[in-house]
Amino acid sequence: MLFFVDAMLGNIAKKLRILGFDCKYYSDIDDVKLLEKSKNENRVIISKDQNLIKRADKMGLLSVYISKEDEIEQFKEILQKTNLEFGEISGDGARCPKCNSTTSKIKKSEIINQVKEKTLEEHDEFWRCDGCDQIYWEGIHIKNLQEFVRKIK
Ligand SMILES: [Zn+2]
Repeated sequence: MLFFVDAMLGNIAKKLRILGFDCKYYSDIDDVKLLEKSKNENRVIISKDQNLIKRADKMGLLSVYISKEDEIEQFKEILQKTNLEFGEISGDGARCPKCNSTTSKIKKSEIINQVKEKTLEEHDEFWRCDGCDQIYWEGIHIKNLQEFVRKIK
């Protein structure tokens, strides 16, 4: 499942990316263009803009209107409208929260000077973004997200 997410919902987009979903942001894009792109790329629109959602409905596009402020409630709204499924979070399936690219596992020896020594000592698995070269490991962000997923379920 691919998504187009309202820039106002950046946190949702980041979480979806870490969960492994291809998720593009939009801001300052014409509604018509956005709807066209969603249709062509087969993306589900997630938005707080009710008018946009209505237009998507008319075109027969799957979209999710987000009315809640709380992130857990927002995720539940997504789950109600889609058959989105996710399990354990894994670095192998995650996408880069910054740029939406896929990530690849890398050896510790390849990143010796790129992360703190302490991080290298404390972790064994590392991934690098295929797009922006950002390095990731299963740190506190993943733990927080795992906790978040448990709360949704
Ligand atoms: Zn990236």
